[in-house]
Amino acid sequence: MTGAPSKWELMLSPKPCAMCGASGFWVNRDGVELCKRHRLATPDEVAASSGHQSAMDRLWGCGDIDVVFHRADRVLLPWARASRRRGPTGIEQATQLRTAARDIVARPPRLMEVDPRHLRATQPWALRHHVSYYLTGAWERTGITSADRDSEANRYPTITLSAERVIHTGHHRALAALIQGRALLARTTTDDPRWAVAVTPSLHVGTMTPLPAVSASTPTEAADVINDGGIALVATQAVANATLNLLAPPSGGER
Ligand SMILES: [Zn+2]
Repeated sequence: MTGAPSKWELMLSPKPCAMCGASGFWVNRDGVELCKRHRLATPDEVAASSGHQSAMDRLWGCGDIDVVFHRADRVLLPWARASRRRGPTGIEQATQLRTAARDIVARPPRLMEVDPRHLRATQPWALRHHVSYYLTGAWERTGITSADRDSEANRYPTITLSAERVIHTGHHRALAALIQGRALLARTTTDDPRWAVAVTPSLHVGTMTPLPAVSASTPTEAADVINDGGIALVATQAVANATLNLLAPPSGGER
């Protein structure tokens, strides 16, 4: 893996200004390409611009990874970065955001749908092989992530919802959802203790969920729902475990 392209490499192949579409010869500190007129724009101004909205519309449901990646191994994420104020206010804000994300991960995973068009990023880059994996639907079916499989924080996308909807983990899953024009399944700050708890993204234990789930009373029913690409809601962990065994019989070697 080579390092991130330098500012000079990026400037050798200027892309349109993220805000207005004119030739973008400037790269701001978030890695967003901008024209001379917009080179000092804030992340808020980028996110609110018509250029950003039409870029989101172009990617939403495009169904083609190369509309995003142009055959490259990595690209800048299409979302504006989460706003960062300077000085003590900014440090306090950043701390609050990190605490909110940690609190989400400390609770049982309860998922809801989030629109991937209206998000802010906390990392600059996306890697093609992770997005390719998340376009297959394997994560929804099995819960197996493309990277950091032992990380609780990475099991499900984590998004704080306030003035900005900020992605803390799950940038590649959010990008896959954007490409496929569908909702992103995520843990957020507004989960409800009454909601069902996720066993995998497509299998939940409980009686109530904001997801478009199908109630299944037996493991066979639940496995059928999941094999059809749906989300199954089952009443007990025992039914969930039996469902997992039907989907992927224990094979000894692999986890
Ligand atoms: Zn511009």
